[in-house]
Amino acid sequence: MTFTSRSAPVEAGRGSAGAAASAGVRAQAPVGAAVGLPDARGSSPLATVAFERTRRLRATASRRRLVRETRLSPAQLVMPLFVVPGHGRREPIGSMPGQARLSPDLVVELATRLAGLGVGGLMLFGIPGEKDPFGEGAADPEGPVPEALRRLRAADLPLALAADVCLCEYTTHGHCGIVSGDRIDNDATLPRLAGAAVAYAQAGADIVAPSAMMDGQVAAIRAGLDAAGATEIAILAYACKHASALYGPFREAADSTPSFGDRRSHQMDAANGREALREMALDAAEGADMLMVKPAITSLDVLARARERFDLPLAAYQVSGELAMLEAAAERGWIDRRRAALELLTAIARAGADVILTYLAGDVPAWLSEEDAR
Ligand SMILES: [Zn+2]
Repeated sequence: MTFTSRSAPVEAGRGSAGAAASAGVRAQAPVGAAVGLPDARGSSPLATVAFERTRRLRATASRRRLVRETRLSPAQLVMPLFVVPGHGRREPIGSMPGQARLSPDLVVELATRLAGLGVGGLMLFGIPGEKDPFGEGAADPEGPVPEALRRLRAADLPLALAADVCLCEYTTHGHCGIVSGDRIDNDATLPRLAGAAVAYAQAGADIVAPSAMMDGQVAAIRAGLDAAGATEIAILAYACKHASALYGPFREAADSTPSFGDRRSHQMDAANGREALREMALDAAEGADMLMVKPAITSLDVLARARERFDLPLAAYQVSGELAMLEAAAERGWIDRRRAALELLTAIARAGADVILTYLAGDVPAWLSEEDAR
């Protein structure tokens, strides 16, 4: 019945050659169909209601694939990696199944595999052998991140190499900046961040990504890079970084839990969306080449609004807690890991992200090619 009512106008249009054009137009004029509703006694039609048949394009897998609006690609994915000093070191992270802290040699090994899968890039986080109150290690050219960058550069892989720029992995107190009394000294932190960015640029980074949420950090880093002659190194600003419970597993991974207080004086209140857009506008004005939001899943509204407002590439970070929720539920058999993962990532892209940082970057390429083959 459905098929007959749908195809009838088309047949009418084809049937009479002379009036084909006008019949075709007439057939399409009332887009959709009409249905008679029974009255209260269930007999004669009470009213005629027009409706559209949006299901037509969902009827088969080939039609759905043809009209799919959002497509994920391995090239848009960035894999976050935690780098520790040494050689042959692989330390699994309990709250992030499948993830491990790696020494630079093993980073290159994994990066080679990811490059082979077509993944777009890496984001490196360093965990130094020694920490101090000022996070000196962040700018140490012999630190784990610069060493990994030099090795990756030598391996000449087709990956964009990004390095996170913050002090929290390098400070004994675990805060993102220089601590003065019971507060973080914004302006004293800026040259430290710029120094770290220059060290990573000189070691081979394509992109530096300030995540400390200090005011003026993008301007300070741009000035530092330019003064060091690194004018071609791009800045991916963690522009909208909400203070979030979803960073918990990362802090285990990076050993960066604050020893006192929290990060609410610099990371944004998760309740604020307009402020997020203001942060993004400020970072763009300071010279950011790309803008990031994190966590991804709690920032979809910000992404969608930012997509309307900014022409810069937008990135979203699917953070450790997002991974942990997925992995824990999948392990218990409560959700289908692959379907849920692709749905989450697709939603992030649909909201407006061009680039997605995800710990699943190594899994997704195979899933996508299997989907294509179906
Ligand atoms: Zn930090």
